[in-house]
Amino acid sequence: MRIVLMGPPGAGKGTQAAIIAEQFKIPHISTGEIFRANVGQGTELGIEAKKYMDKGEYVPDAVTNKMVAARLAEPDTENGFLLDGYPRTLEQVGELERILDDLGTPLDHVVEITANTDEVVARLLNRAKLDGRADDTEEVIRRRMEVYAEQTEPLVAVYEEKGLLLKVDGMGDVEEVSGRLLGALQA
Ligand code: AMP
Repeated sequence: MRIVLMGPPGAGKGTQAAIIAEQFKIPHISTGEIFRANVGQGTELGIEAKKYMDKGEYVPDAVTNKMVAARLAEPDTENGFLLDGYPRTLEQVGELERILDDLGTPLDHVVEITANTDEVVARLLNRAKLDGRADDTEEVIRRRMEVYAEQTEPLVAVYEEKGLLLKVDGMGDVEEVSGRLLGALQA
């Protein structure tokens, strides 16, 4: 099962990705998590990524693509993977296609979790209080929503055209949403 999970910041991607990955016994690959781990460890990649993350901007494609190519080459992806937060730009879509073409392993599904903007901003502000993510201030949240709308939302149509898209309503509690997601993926 090779899946891409998309959706605006605060739609619950991370939580749902963990549930799906567990269910299908595939690795959950979150580019945001990998960047945060690198920031935490003070690696060169982390220092570079932090400049963008702190402003709510995307890390440059060249940096992100290289990191994802290396991650997808690891042996635990043999039975599939769930990509959370990648691709986020048209260039990343092309790169992912090249990586998977080389491996001979095309995507099975792209799932878009849809969400209401006011609701997700409220969720993110709440998350800021709970786990103090550096990029969960109101100003940065707004910027992340804008960047998503400008650069990532258009990818939904691209995947729809490829016949890969599943749309799932992300509003409601965690179990409700995961029930919908698993139902859509197993259908
Ligand atoms: P996330 O945890 O998915 O919300 O990602 C947090 C931040 O990491 C984003 O706001 C970006 O700065 C950066 N990031 C994560 N994934 C990508 C990506 N595919 N392309 C560029 N930047 C990314």
